[in-house]
Amino acid sequence: MSNAGAEFRDDARPIATPATPAAPAAPGGPAGSGNAAARKWLSSEQLAPLTTLSTGKALASLGLTIGLLAALIATGIWAWGQGAWLIVALCIIGIGIQQHAIFILNHEAAHQRLLPHRKLNDALGSLIGMSGGVSMHTYRVTHRLHHNHLYGKQDPDTAIHGGYPRGRKYLVKKLLQDLIGLNAWKTYAYFFGAPAINDDTGSAINPLNDTSPDLRRAARADRVRVVVFQIGVPTTLFLIATYAYFTRTEGLFALKLLGFYALFWLLPLVTVLQPILRLRAICEHGAVTDLSSPLTAARCVRTWGSVGNWIGRAVLFPHHVNHHLEHHLYPAVPHYHLPKLHALLLAKGALQGAQVRDVVETLRDIFAPRRQAKLLSAA
Ligand SMILES: [Zn+2]
Ligand SMILES: [Zn+2]
Repeated sequence: MSNAGAEFRDDARPIATPATPAAPAAPGGPAGSGNAAARKWLSSEQLAPLTTLSTGKALASLGLTIGLLAALIATGIWAWGQGAWLIVALCIIGIGIQQHAIFILNHEAAHQRLLPHRKLNDALGSLIGMSGGVSMHTYRVTHRLHHNHLYGKQDPDTAIHGGYPRGRKYLVKKLLQDLIGLNAWKTYAYFFGAPAINDDTGSAINPLNDTSPDLRRAARADRVRVVVFQIGVPTTLFLIATYAYFTRTEGLFALKLLGFYALFWLLPLVTVLQPILRLRAICEHGAVTDLSSPLTAARCVRTWGSVGNWIGRAVLFPHHVNHHLEHHLYPAVPHYHLPKLHALLLAKGALQGAQVRDVVETLRDIFAPRRQAKLLSAA
């Protein structure tokens, strides 16, 4: 089967401007600079194990997230019965954080990195996307544009993370709007393909022109499944409860289930999850200084070595999604091999001059005053 129009292309742009120190070629290292050189540092023998998929590791990641979600939901339902409102609130926050982890695994599936069997990967990805109300197949189309046109006119994500730092007030306001659910519809429009399908992104070229018809067809069918699922679940519960009410039979459990579904699933989905999605996306690409290479247009956020970094990992960067720079360099590497990829690139000096930052440093950069953007771009 031809892969044309379905591939996530490796980003092989070299660093073009002198603003960022490029990775110097160490003795014996490859010629060239920046990203182009970084890609040459690893031999095909070194890359092969890193791009090999492990069903066990992927299912362990999924199992961990589903296990945490189940524990949080069960605790939340128990706390509701006890009237322990603080615990209920903490559970809702925890559920939102773990829903984000589900979104990260949805991203793995979009890259066909979740399961080695293509159809099983897509079926599982579609299922976990559906649980969060998003279409994995549609996201695959949109996300492919992000990878293949990073910070270009056809990158649908620039609207989310471009232009930072915009000042603390701007970002805090956005995050608070997200938290109270005002922007959830925009997120769902994005995951339903609105940025790629409805926007012309200001470019004369249709961003979907080089996307394969198969991908687009699968995306359309997936969107229908997601809508049917999201409307079907609450409608079924409501109908069971209504039937039980009028026939005076047992069935009010369905109404209770509907309530818990709204409180412990839908509520965190449209509130807690929203600022996390935005903040993580901005940490990945926001407030960078040089857009000419993914070594500097994408960021690797350190989630180890300090308490702040570990907190960042727990809240914002599950499943090694902090290695976003490495992910842009090598989208074929699954999430569980990204730390090893990082270590290899680091050992070879390929990350010199790259955006590798602690969580606190990253937050300081993206929350920086707007004027700093001018200073940085002028630097
Ligand atoms: Zn990706
Ligand atoms: Zn990215």
